[in-house]
Amino acid sequence: MTTLGTATAAPGEMDTGRLQVGESRDGSSVGLPVAVINGAREGKRLYVQAASDGDELNGVGVVRRVVPQLDPAELAGEILIVGIVNYHAFQVAEHRNPIDDTKMNRAYPGDENGTSSERIAKATFDAAVSADLVIDLHQGSTSRMIDETRVRCGSRHRLHRECLELAKTFGCGYILDQKGPDGQLARAAPDEGVPTIDPELGGAVGWDEHSIELGVQGVFNVLREYGFLDGQSEIEAQVRASGFEQYGAPAGGLVDFQVDLGERVSGGDTLFTVTDVFGTEKEAVTADSDGVFWRTRRLPQVATGEYVCSVGTNVDTY
Ligand SMILES: [Zn+2]
Repeated sequence: MTTLGTATAAPGEMDTGRLQVGESRDGSSVGLPVAVINGAREGKRLYVQAASDGDELNGVGVVRRVVPQLDPAELAGEILIVGIVNYHAFQVAEHRNPIDDTKMNRAYPGDENGTSSERIAKATFDAAVSADLVIDLHQGSTSRMIDETRVRCGSRHRLHRECLELAKTFGCGYILDQKGPDGQLARAAPDEGVPTIDPELGGAVGWDEHSIELGVQGVFNVLREYGFLDGQSEIEAQVRASGFEQYGAPAGGLVDFQVDLGERVSGGDTLFTVTDVFGTEKEAVTADSDGVFWRTRRLPQVATGEYVCSVGTNVDTY
């Protein structure tokens, strides 16, 4: 039997249920929606989660589209899915868990006696590290962002190559290969020996058809390449950035971008200008390095020092 929370499936079956993670303020139980798909044949175990950040909905869109296409009779191995991780943030369409004002993806590996976020992190971490592979579906929250897959363990980690191969198989087109901050699932799970990727499916809050479809293809690429499903995936070389430069506004006003997301930039190229309300240019900001125009703020108005955009640097092909 394969079990996650109240979902239990014998070989060749699938089930959905809830993974209990405590109670809400009115005392009703909080259960994350989960699914288990137990293949008819032996194989690996894949763990997938979505909405670890509560406003990042494209991953939920991927889960919603992938699960109805899975037939346990045709599957080798098992798939465990938590469809919505950040339960409280999802309810109110926010990024952080409003119960403790914490970003879930800084709370891993979690703590069963800790804060609300730490307890949810612990419950989902236990499921994640029971698997052979982990996919933690994210996106750029309120920013506009290219579709990319993050490898967060760092280049010196013993599982770096395995994480990179998983990212390449997922195949969004771009990889950000840079050690992440403490508390990310994509850092904590490799420490337990489980290759993990953090696909970032677009941005600017979600339900974007193109990004969801890329995520669906990515999950099926992994299922085929790692032997869960018959058939082969087309593995293509990915554009990899190993550095990430952020740019802030040198003056207050309104931003005009001079390059599009995904475009190559060279050091010295103008990335954006800031004008006043009446259209007079106040500042122009140029790229420090060569790279790929990766991420931008969504709204045009900025205060001095406010985040404007990012460029992926140290670019090669993997
Ligand atoms: Zn996220």
